[in-house]
Amino acid sequence: MAVCHLATLEIVNSKTMIYISIGSNLGNRFNYLRRAVALLKESYLNNVSCSIVLETNCILPAGAPAKWNRPFLNMVVAGECDLSPDSLLQGLKDIEHEMGRPVAYERWSPRIIDLDILLWDNIHLDNDHLTIPHPEIHNRPFLMHLLELMGIDERTQQVLQNSPYLPVNCFTNSFTLSPSLVGIVNITSDSFSDGGLCYAPDKAIEQAISHAANGAVVELGAQSTRPGAIIQGPEAEYQKLKPVLDGLEPFMKNGEMIVSIDTFRPEVIDKILNNYSISWINDVKGELSDDILKAISSHKCTICLMHSLGVPAQKDILIPFDESPIDVIKNWAMKNIERFLSLGFSEESIIIDPGIGFGKCALQSIEIFQNLEALKDLNIKVLVGHSRKSFMQAFSVHPAKDRDTETLAVSELIAYKADYLRVHNVDDHMRFFTAKHAINGAV
Ligand code: ADP
Ligand code: MG
Repeated sequence: MAVCHLATLEIVNSKTMIYISIGSNLGNRFNYLRRAVALLKESYLNNVSCSIVLETNCILPAGAPAKWNRPFLNMVVAGECDLSPDSLLQGLKDIEHEMGRPVAYERWSPRIIDLDILLWDNIHLDNDHLTIPHPEIHNRPFLMHLLELMGIDERTQQVLQNSPYLPVNCFTNSFTLSPSLVGIVNITSDSFSDGGLCYAPDKAIEQAISHAANGAVVELGAQSTRPGAIIQGPEAEYQKLKPVLDGLEPFMKNGEMIVSIDTFRPEVIDKILNNYSISWINDVKGELSDDILKAISSHKCTICLMHSLGVPAQKDILIPFDESPIDVIKNWAMKNIERFLSLGFSEESIIIDPGIGFGKCALQSIEIFQNLEALKDLNIKVLVGHSRKSFMQAFSVHPAKDRDTETLAVSELIAYKADYLRVHNVDDHMRFFTAKHAINGAV
């Protein structure tokens, strides 16, 4: 077994495999993990792969304050690094500080983010500020479990000296960071797939909390856009959103919940921006004025714009059959992105949605899924809302509310071509993709 002391570290091969653990038990834990992965990729690691995410109970010493007992989300990131172990440790501390972890903190106290070096190829290292393998690795079975699932190489395996079986009961829940999900909450009586289920505010709040517990952005809509939907006045729409937003505001305010409002009414947007800590506006109509768009951008909200040829959707108004639907959407998106940029939005705060079911027949929708990667050229995030929609009638006789299996099949096809999947059944998506990523080893 190789033993590597600090003095000899400079000669360590620069392309060795490094494993880093990331943990969070404070605030929006999913977002903190995502941000840490993004910063690691940006500045420190190449060829990165990510484990699934395991939720675990907090490990605390006897006598620790009860309020420290908050569950952790944990994951492992593998990658190659050109730095020395000491320089990488400094880099991890820099990420922690950049993300807002205080420089001074009590040991074992809750943290928004913790980045530790678990393994560095097959080296052993022990100096006054860095021990590799991480000294606690054998006391944290969930980390061993994640490493096993990722399938660490034989050289690295040597330093672990662990038995090749997977520990059970070492976690309380499991997730994946990819794909990013937007969970629908319809505060309506007439939505096409789940009308009435979340009409009561307490049901809508419950659904929102459940979506957020799976790491999803929560999308609240109080106006159905299905074909034939009755369009209510803005005040009626706002009054349906209000009790739900009142219930969710504490979570939105501290950043634990990211909420998007699905509305095309400037009056509703204006009131919500002024009264709630909202993060996204989802406009399905594309008729907002410069003034209201400027108000959205000045509140640091993300704008998600959907392509449509009429709201409510009209079955006989379609993109002309002699045109490529993806090209039509791309041209429409380019014009709108330019406009949004001129009104104060940054590229990161714009999302484009091709609007499945709005001005596209079933075959045009399928063509959009097959060519979705063409939208990558826009360099803007893409959201796809395909969940339970009527194009599925091209291959399924099941009614809208029973189309979650078909929805998952489409999600699987487009998961890595889109930045967000907007779905009704967040829980099934999380379970499906977690299983897939666990079996694949990494994503
Ligand atoms: P914890 O990871 O238990 O929350 P900290 O992140 O506060 O604790 O780490 C405390 C110190 O542990 C760090 O400042 C660092 O110097 C030291 N340390 C020793 N070995 C490692 C390692 N492999 N990875 C990260 N930190 C380590
Ligand atoms: Mg640490």
